[in-house]
Amino acid sequence: MNTMNDFYQNGPELQNTFDSDMFLKNYLKNNIPAEYHQQIFEHLQKVGALAATTWAQWAAEAEAHPPKLTTFSPWGKRIDQIEISNGWKQLEKAAATEGLIAIAFERKQKEFSRVYQMALLYLFAPSSAFFSCPLAMTDGAARAIELDGDENLITRAFKKLTSRDPEKFWTSGQWMTERTGGSDVSGTSTIAKAAGENRFTLEGTKWFTSATTSQMALTLARTENAEAGSRGLSLFYLELRDENNNLNNIEVHRLKEKLGTIALPTAELTLTGTPAIMIGKPGEGIKRIASVLNITRVYNSICALGHMRRALDLAWDFAQKRKAFGQFLIDHPLHKKTLSDLEVIFQRCFKLSFFVVKLLGKEECGIANEQEKILLRALTPIVKLYTAKKCILVSSEAIEAFGGAGYIEDTGLPRLLRDAQVFSIWEGTTNVLALDFLKVCQKESVLPLLAEILKSNPQSLQLQDKKWQESENARELAFLVAELVIESIT
Ligand SMILES: Cc1cc2nc3c(=O)[nH]c(=O)nc-3n(C[C@H](O)[C@H](O)[C@H](O)COP(=O)(O)OP(=O)(O)OC[C@H]3O[C@@H](n4cnc5c(N)ncnc54)[C@H](O)[C@@H]3O)c2cc1C
Repeated sequence: MNTMNDFYQNGPELQNTFDSDMFLKNYLKNNIPAEYHQQIFEHLQKVGALAATTWAQWAAEAEAHPPKLTTFSPWGKRIDQIEISNGWKQLEKAAATEGLIAIAFERKQKEFSRVYQMALLYLFAPSSAFFSCPLAMTDGAARAIELDGDENLITRAFKKLTSRDPEKFWTSGQWMTERTGGSDVSGTSTIAKAAGENRFTLEGTKWFTSATTSQMALTLARTENAEAGSRGLSLFYLELRDENNNLNNIEVHRLKEKLGTIALPTAELTLTGTPAIMIGKPGEGIKRIASVLNITRVYNSICALGHMRRALDLAWDFAQKRKAFGQFLIDHPLHKKTLSDLEVIFQRCFKLSFFVVKLLGKEECGIANEQEKILLRALTPIVKLYTAKKCILVSSEAIEAFGGAGYIEDTGLPRLLRDAQVFSIWEGTTNVLALDFLKVCQKESVLPLLAEILKSNPQSLQLQDKKWQESENARELAFLVAELVIESIT
């Protein structure tokens, strides 16, 4: 007979993350035309198996071997080499092979390509150790070049960013934040000196540059004599390395020590005459980078969603394995209700996120009507801020669902909470996005439009309230709009 001392708890395990996700499967069945079902379902099923096994192992390897910067060679030469783990490299290859970027730009499933791609990202992200971050910026950069780049940039960069061949595939950084600010980039002090027709050299320091091992980056800088403030900023394309694989006049000072996202290299660096090409016209930097941010904010929402799903999958599994007071946790009504309530939060986030993804797909295929374009613009900051905050809440509760084990590092569970915190900071903080939404409301009369769309919900009358014109109420308004829109989605 076993004694209590022989007891060892079985830990949580993942199943094929597509097979076990009825909510995703039902959504896809009801929202993607039947002609695409077989191909998409087969692909996602393969990916769900990888996410639960090989990719999760690579992600664990990447987390266990964070990037390392070596600034000098043994002989004192400045080399600024960033070493990344095998796991990270494998995840990059997998992203290319599975078409994580390509699907969105090939548009073989027309406006549903974005839904397909985001479903794929949702499965990939929680097993990617945040390789989803370079992917977000890569997708955003590809879109910016597709919209505003010339033939040279299409051949030089776009084709690589959207390639399915791991040998040709490039990722991109997006370097906006300087020491003076990330939300407010008006203090950007990087200078672009003219060096030939549409050619420049950049000088300045960037304070947060994630995915520093990417081949290219889009960045903001001020041409000489440009006006102060945001209006003087332009958008630039640069390549990190020259044809000999040496850094293109870039000094990497250090990699940041972060609360989470530890497999992702995030550096502080200085451009010391880095060759660059302007995208768009001088002074159009903020306008041109907007197309990148629209994409990265949708990515953030989908990654937060995938993160919540992963936390809940583990918590549900554990609840069927762990006993307390003589029965499995799942059989305790209060524990079950706790998880079920989190499940509802997840499902509401899912509805809102994929509602926005669908709008994005339509807009990129040129079939969105005026109302849909306004909704996409207005709901992009809303979905980002809403899903990010809910992800932190769900991750925190999910950890508690493991009791003490949730707090212990080698279970891998604390990472869920540490990583969740980033979703509400990068790509725009909650306040900054709430104010962005308010700005759209003022320009595009979004609130009357929303009140009209949501008129079956009596609460929508609140949207006529004058208090929403006050910026101090912007955050409250943003969450109200998110809740109302979610309730209107069938
Ligand atoms: C892990 C990580 C990786 C990153 N990678 C990159 C990268 O690759 N490229 C890049 O460009 N940046 C990157 N960032 C930077 C990130 O985008 C910025 O930190 C973020 O945008 C916030 O900017 P800030 O740090 O200047 O904060 P601040 O703007 O100083 O904000 C501080 C606080 O003030 C609030 N606030 C600011 N303005 C207002 C206002 N008008 N009204 C009310 N409240 C306000 C904010 O909500 C926040 O709570 C990264 C950050 C992290 C954490």
